[in-house]
Amino acid sequence: MTSTHSKLSASIEALLRKTVYWALQPLLIVISLYLAHTDASIDTHTVFIVAAFCIITALEILFPARREWRKGIIETIALLGFVFVAMVAYVAIETFYEVSLFAWMNSLSNILHLDIWPSHWPMIAQVLLIFLAFEFVNYWYHRAAHHWGWLWKLSGHSVHHAFKKLSGLNAIANHPIEALFLILPRAIVGFLLGGEAVGSAFVSLTTVTAILVHSNLSLNSAVVGWFFTTNRYHIHHHSQVIAESNTNFGCVCIIWDRIFGTFHDASTKNTGISDTQPSYKTLFIMPFKR
Ligand SMILES: [Zn+2]
Repeated sequence: MTSTHSKLSASIEALLRKTVYWALQPLLIVISLYLAHTDASIDTHTVFIVAAFCIITALEILFPARREWRKGIIETIALLGFVFVAMVAYVAIETFYEVSLFAWMNSLSNILHLDIWPSHWPMIAQVLLIFLAFEFVNYWYHRAAHHWGWLWKLSGHSVHHAFKKLSGLNAIANHPIEALFLILPRAIVGFLLGGEAVGSAFVSLTTVTAILVHSNLSLNSAVVGWFFTTNRYHIHHHSQVIAESNTNFGCVCIIWDRIFGTFHDASTKNTGISDTQPSYKTLFIMPFKR
């Protein structure tokens, strides 16, 4: 009886793992695109993003791809605290940019008549265009942050790479100072093309994919990974081996890596920037240390 029961639980678990492997990322992408297509409110996007994050986190606890990446309670609380500080900094810096740099860029864009956005296109085509444009600028910022040592340090991007255990929450585990740089690609696209209203339509697509690519789950890369970044590709970008880390710069869309020759599909042994994860104190002062 016990043997039959355990066999049944094992086959249910195998079925759930397979479902997650094949269906989780495509399903979340389809819902994100549907929300973009229907021009959903920001509240609807927020509910979806929070729900997706909770589901991904629950699945990481139940079916982790790497058991050694499971975090203890203290580790989780410490990471949550770090993420909280990063988010507060992000909101503060974004508010500062809105009233200073972005206001100035908006005026200049109006004077130069730079708003060439094709607002007559179907919504889904507009979303795809701004998504590709945003990912293009983001790709080059990310590649530059890895290429130039001064930017790697000053931007705080090294801190994002310092974590040894990855999970969905690591998508937003950035040094507070990195918000200064992460917010800019969106503003540059808005300045050159316009289309800011459409930009908010793909917030679910970018946020949920960013969470997924850091997740500790076994996910299929063969189909969805032709266009979108998967966690296999992004975990490779987090490799401790520098040559491996200098690949797969697209955090959400992998197409620019394929075009510019930085795509690499391989498994990853160790992540992080050293054999052990630095303390949080070290992480905070890392961009300012010589
Ligand atoms: Zn990176």
